[in-house]
Amino acid sequence: MNKESNLPVERSRILFKGIVQGVGFRPYLYRSARKFQLTGFVKNTSEGVILEVEGKNLDNFLQYILNHLPPLSEVVDYNVSKLPRQFSREFEILASENTDKSDLLVSPDIAICENCKKELSLPADRRYQYPFINCTDCGPRLTIIQDLPYDRPKTTMAKFAMCEKCGSEYHDPMDRRYHAQPVSCFHCGPTLSLYDNNGNKIETGNPWQEACKKIKAGNIVAIKGLGGYHLACLASSDEALIKLRKYKNRENKPFALMGTLEMIQQNCRVSETEKKHLLSPSAPILLLKRKPGANVSSLVAPGQNTIGFMVPYTPLHILLLQEINQPLVMTSANISDEPIIYKENTNTEELRALSDYILSHDRDIYLFADDSVAQVFDDRLYMVRRSRGYVPFPITIPFNSPKIILGLGPLLKTTFTVIRGNKALTSAYIGDTESPSAIAAEKFAIQHYMKLFAFKPDIVVIDKHPGYPNRLIAGEFPGAEVVEIQHHKAHVGSLLAETGETGPVIGVSMDGTGYGDDGKIWGGEFFVGDYQTLSRFGHLKYLFLPAGDRSVKEPWRFALSLLHTLYGPGHDRVTQFAGKFGKKGHQQLEIIKNSQSKFGVLTSSCGRIFDAAAAVLGIGYFSSFDGDLPSLVQGVAEKSGGSKTCYDFSIEKEEKNTILNLLPLFHDMINDNRRVTEKAFIFHQTLANGIVSMAEQARSEYHIDKVGLTGGVFQNLLLLELTTARLREKEFQVLIHSEIPANDGGISLGQCYLAGARYWND
Ligand code: ZN
Ligand code: ZN
Ligand code: FE
Repeated sequence: MNKESNLPVERSRILFKGIVQGVGFRPYLYRSARKFQLTGFVKNTSEGVILEVEGKNLDNFLQYILNHLPPLSEVVDYNVSKLPRQFSREFEILASENTDKSDLLVSPDIAICENCKKELSLPADRRYQYPFINCTDCGPRLTIIQDLPYDRPKTTMAKFAMCEKCGSEYHDPMDRRYHAQPVSCFHCGPTLSLYDNNGNKIETGNPWQEACKKIKAGNIVAIKGLGGYHLACLASSDEALIKLRKYKNRENKPFALMGTLEMIQQNCRVSETEKKHLLSPSAPILLLKRKPGANVSSLVAPGQNTIGFMVPYTPLHILLLQEINQPLVMTSANISDEPIIYKENTNTEELRALSDYILSHDRDIYLFADDSVAQVFDDRLYMVRRSRGYVPFPITIPFNSPKIILGLGPLLKTTFTVIRGNKALTSAYIGDTESPSAIAAEKFAIQHYMKLFAFKPDIVVIDKHPGYPNRLIAGEFPGAEVVEIQHHKAHVGSLLAETGETGPVIGVSMDGTGYGDDGKIWGGEFFVGDYQTLSRFGHLKYLFLPAGDRSVKEPWRFALSLLHTLYGPGHDRVTQFAGKFGKKGHQQLEIIKNSQSKFGVLTSSCGRIFDAAAAVLGIGYFSSFDGDLPSLVQGVAEKSGGSKTCYDFSIEKEEKNTILNLLPLFHDMINDNRRVTEKAFIFHQTLANGIVSMAEQARSEYHIDKVGLTGGVFQNLLLLELTTARLREKEFQVLIHSEIPANDGGISLGQCYLAGARYWND
């Protein structure tokens, strides 16, 4: 007799909490219970998944379960209670008890899993080379869901009736495709079609192979993906890239690439952590250090030391990459910074203008989602754009909000966020809400979330800027209280929310631009206080930004103004610099001299300081996208071997504010005859030291030793590294972002967090 059969029969109830619904958790428990010959049941409830099992050696079973969890699940907590025996005879999956939509979560879209990959490449499999293969562990989710609970009739798969074979897989709890809503095959699922850019369908037995031929021949092919269309072409071809840049009207902004891990490793340095994230179910674009001798066209990311790479994350992508066998450009199909194109009917014209051919299919995308973009810092994910693969997973905040709060975000890189209870749901990246189509996209996505997650906002939060168009959306929630939150405070709020902090904190918001409480253009801000009392402690010295938005596109104008402030009107250095731009330069100088207040504004923006550094160092004078020159300055600095030198700066008191004056830095930099790479590095180092000195000043006045670093400028990992290292040397505790971007993609979360704070008096 073996030991096992002597053990008593017991019954236990186990409640699993975390990401346990819509990720194949119940069928996993079903299969495991059957394997261990246990009886009982499993069901979804609003609290989590409840498992009751009866049989022998339940401890052993529980250990097994916890050690073999489905890849997408995450058990945050579990709780075991003993029950009397009920002499159950079988193990069942019971119908969901959950009728309250407000507790349901939706899974993000998930990269193809290993099992599906195997089947895709197995000639004997009935889904061999099927471009829409998926299972419970992988495939589209958020982008195809029209309503909850998540069930096939409520997805864009509703129009495809399952064939007999797919149906039996779908209904069999022992099968990997049990309740996989998008399950399909060649006989019953979506199909691909290829079109030319006049809209004529190209007759071919194999549209994806035909599309590969077009790509190999140097064409731009629009390819329908999970959350929208990509524009694809050969990453090695200068000609294709020149054409793509012309179609997209995009001068220098880097394009993302798609390649297998081997291709990525040929072109970039990939750490273990980076590899882990590249291959994760979220499959983001990672910004990776380019290797010398990379065989990718220099037109992919001009002037950058990094390349944005992702792995093929759908079966169609895998087929394309296998056939073409070299990295592809895979950039979102959109017009400049508008939302990604995802609907064929409404966007056909735009799509044709952007591509030579269109590879499409008839599984509709209901909600758009761009690819996510991230970096790795300090061995952790450091998000740049949080979208596909991550949304709509909630961020847990340290409060239970009695109000439902909707944050509408800023102007650029907009997202929106809903806080309900202790969960914050941040939307996919929407883009720059300057155009009617972007506003429409934001409205649609908000309406969809309201339906999906069954909420109506009590509070709607907007940016302080009086002219931001998404203010208009706020008017569409009658009865809701409208609250304004200043842009850079919202950045700090987003960091507090993400890190589960309430403060007190020294919040450092190094950013592009945002409308300030005093009507000036803020962007290099220091705050002190907690989540309820956050107030401005100081800022970068105000400098005159001539010609407003024009200076943002032509940063030499701001550099000229800075030099004028530094040296005075008649100084050689000022006239020489103006002379570089001929007549325009002298005209601009006259305006700066004569009418500072009329034709410009004062700004404390840190992004503009980077712009000015680029112009003074001769790295660049014009900007073709947000962050263009700052990323070049970083790129140049990273080529230096480092330096211990620091330029001068000063900290001054101005009424209540503490001012970080970087003009001495510019003076030193101009008079320094080191190489430009070293000067760019010392520029970073000085800025980092200036920030740390400001933090020390704040600590001495307010006795706070926690510093939070946020704002778009902190996407610059060199600055982030120098600043955090120096802060830690000075024994500060440092908060930095991870899953929520430091840039404006995080603003909506911060808006909600700070606007709600006053209701959270416990
Ligand atoms: Zn799968
Ligand atoms: Zn089928
Ligand atoms: Fe910002």
